[in-house]
Amino acid sequence: MPTIRQLPPSVINKIAAGEVIERPASVVKELLENAVDAGAARIDVSVEQGGTAAVRVADDGCGIAAEQLSLAVSSHATSKILEADDLFRIATLGFRGEALASIAEVSQLRLRSRTTDRDAGYEIEVDGGQLRDVAPCGCPTGTCVEVRNLFFNIPVRRKFLRTTQTEMGHASEAFTRIALAHPRIHFTLRHNERQLFDLPPTESWRERIATFFGAELNEHLLWVESGDEQAQLSGYVADPEFSRSNNRLQYLFLNSRFIRDRSLQHALGEAYRGLLTTGRYAVVFLRLDIAPETVDVNVHPTKLEVRFQDGGRMYSQLLGTLRSKFLSTDLTARVSLTPTGAAVDSASSADPNHLAEHRRAVSDWARGSSPGPPHESAAASQQSSLTFAAELPPTAVPEFKPFPAPASRSPVSARQLLGESANEAPRPARELGAVPREAPSADRDPDDSLRTSTSLRGLQLHQRYLVTENQQGMVVIDQHALHERILYEQLRQKVLAGQLETQRLLVPEPVSLTSAEAAAALDAGATLKQLGIEVAPFGGDTVLISSYPAMLASSSPQQVLRQVVDLLLSGGQAPDRRDLLDELLHMISCKAAIKAGDRLSQAEVDALLEQRHCYQDSHHCPHGRPTALVFTREELDRRFKRT
Ligand code: ADP
Ligand code: MG
Repeated sequence: MPTIRQLPPSVINKIAAGEVIERPASVVKELLENAVDAGAARIDVSVEQGGTAAVRVADDGCGIAAEQLSLAVSSHATSKILEADDLFRIATLGFRGEALASIAEVSQLRLRSRTTDRDAGYEIEVDGGQLRDVAPCGCPTGTCVEVRNLFFNIPVRRKFLRTTQTEMGHASEAFTRIALAHPRIHFTLRHNERQLFDLPPTESWRERIATFFGAELNEHLLWVESGDEQAQLSGYVADPEFSRSNNRLQYLFLNSRFIRDRSLQHALGEAYRGLLTTGRYAVVFLRLDIAPETVDVNVHPTKLEVRFQDGGRMYSQLLGTLRSKFLSTDLTARVSLTPTGAAVDSASSADPNHLAEHRRAVSDWARGSSPGPPHESAAASQQSSLTFAAELPPTAVPEFKPFPAPASRSPVSARQLLGESANEAPRPARELGAVPREAPSADRDPDDSLRTSTSLRGLQLHQRYLVTENQQGMVVIDQHALHERILYEQLRQKVLAGQLETQRLLVPEPVSLTSAEAAAALDAGATLKQLGIEVAPFGGDTVLISSYPAMLASSSPQQVLRQVVDLLLSGGQAPDRRDLLDELLHMISCKAAIKAGDRLSQAEVDALLEQRHCYQDSHHCPHGRPTALVFTREELDRRFKRT
């Protein structure tokens, strides 16, 4: 018969640690929460090797009395609640009294603290749960906790830690969540002795948000506010132009605690319905302040999720507030500038000045006063160029791109359809985007070899379907799907053979990302390199992109990187289980392929149809949609009552 035993405290603590401390970022979160609860005005965080080597958090808060130090690091010991009823009037971030004990169980922890009424401080050390003596030490008022070698005594856990970059990405996100929630506290963050953030106290929440997410986003935030005695909602929601392909930039703070709440996230989706294309998520920074007794924060070990007494009310308040804001704000003008499906992550392309500038450049180009060979009638060029103007990447630097790259909207040249990059050799950045609108005239010659090599002749319908015949009957082909398939196969072969053409930038372009995005991009560095996308860290959360696939020459490097990052962060599957390279190949080929609506010349139609036979499996595009439909001759005969 199995014997039931009371578990020793060290085992209990290890179990608790398993729930609360997942990775170094959890240590950052717990220590920061304690510092905030201690009423600190300044909190300095310093992290080594993504937190796997050390996490140090120093505050100038109330401190811990010498005789309480050993209690602070023992389990279920807290100064924040006394009785069970207190659980329903929680005004602090912590209350479970588990964090320090859990951390101390699985690391080497040193805590120094001094209260305001004492001249000297005291220090306590715990090594893998083993308490060392409390000894006096010199230290300023407040508390400094240092956690070294997390999981040193749990090798399986240590093994699961990811790269420094990834761990730092998480740690930095934990820091961001708390620093965002408390703008009146001065926060700093250092990593390996490099200062990443210095956030002086501010009365303006917007200012703090801007420090993390940039001035550009800041300019496009809308203030929202509503509420009564019971529940107040306030904060900023971003212009739909700033959507993301995941919901990571949805910051919800309940009584100054960062939370995730499915129902509220759903309300956000509803509020933005019709303003965002499918698969895009709004960017918001919202505070919900409600009476503590109307919410249970004790439902999740890390308190990330909470349970509202009246969730329905929260849902309607959020949805209603945002809806009425959007109704009273003229968003439509800005939204309509984003062509559907074009993922423009930044607002600058929608900035009226930017647009006007680009439009001018485009019409100059259409009139022939700037380089670039217009092939269509002026009216047609103007039309397609205007659509394009709205899609221009935010950082189309005028001197490198004397005119917007019409190639990105242009029907791809016959040469490109044949898989030849328009830029065979790496070219200086100056020429990026200056891909000729159409292939050299040889390719467009009516007698060109493409045409004569085959009797195949196709017809383009509605600028999206190609119609041709084969032995069985009439074939109708989706031009985008077919081209995407062809490019995908070519790209894959080239990548496997290591022969992919890349565009090397003369001046590498810095792209500022969120920490999680930067970490994801740098983590995937090796895979990206196979695709010719070279990235390197550039301080803070900025990543330098120095080359990218020539096939995407018509996009800006920044746009390419943002799409890649969106792809890296999207999808719930474990990253190592996904075939990242394959997904990136799909993304690139989809992006580079001609679109529905692109007009093709006869040579281009024929080149595409010719290519169809080179790839066995060209009946389906990589997304699984059919590329072609066949109407058999028998079927046609029957329909025309010939049989
Ligand atoms: P909890 O925060 O849930 O109470 P912790 O294990 O995180 O539990 O901390 C235990 C106790 O130690 C706290 O209740 C608090 O009294 C004290 N403490 C921890 N960190 C600090 C700090 N930075 N400043 C002052 N007191 C602290
Ligand atoms: Mg705590």
